[in-house]
Amino acid sequence: MAESKHTPGPWVYRAATHTDWGDVNDASGDCLIAHCNCYLSGKSLDCHRKDGTDPAKANGLLVAAAPDMLEVLMEAEWGGTAIGGNMSCPVCFNSREYGHSPDCILAAAIAKATGSTEQFQPGQCHECKKVQNGVMEIADGRKLCRDCFLALKTREAADAEAKGETDG
Ligand SMILES: [Zn+2]
Ligand SMILES: [Zn+2]
Repeated sequence: MAESKHTPGPWVYRAATHTDWGDVNDASGDCLIAHCNCYLSGKSLDCHRKDGTDPAKANGLLVAAAPDMLEVLMEAEWGGTAIGGNMSCPVCFNSREYGHSPDCILAAAIAKATGSTEQFQPGQCHECKKVQNGVMEIADGRKLCRDCFLALKTREAADAEAKGETDG
């Protein structure tokens, strides 16, 4: 699992006094994580506080909770138990060695929060780039579909054999 790149939590939302915006900061207050202000769109007077709600605060609280939620998701990711006692995803029920199903919303949420969607979608083979069921993580952290995994093993076996011939 990749180390998280975001500013360490906990994050805190503080509403500014007598206004309708607020900021999310890290615990030290040195780092501004997000400025939440519904007026920036220019038309938000209509959506804002007519019913007594405070969308800037609601958004800010959601942002501030993000590091906690991400941590919980990553802890839960392989927290289930599949048949045979293997670790499995509590949402798509695939085992860890098999990898998430392509439509797993837990994997998608983690990918969205960590930016890994820019490279690979959940269930996408890092070699042939196809999204399919049964993509498994190998030792170097890449995820391969069954076909690419078998091809890799065949190449490795051929390499080992060739090496053995030169050595011997
Ligand atoms: Zn899953
Ligand atoms: Zn593949």
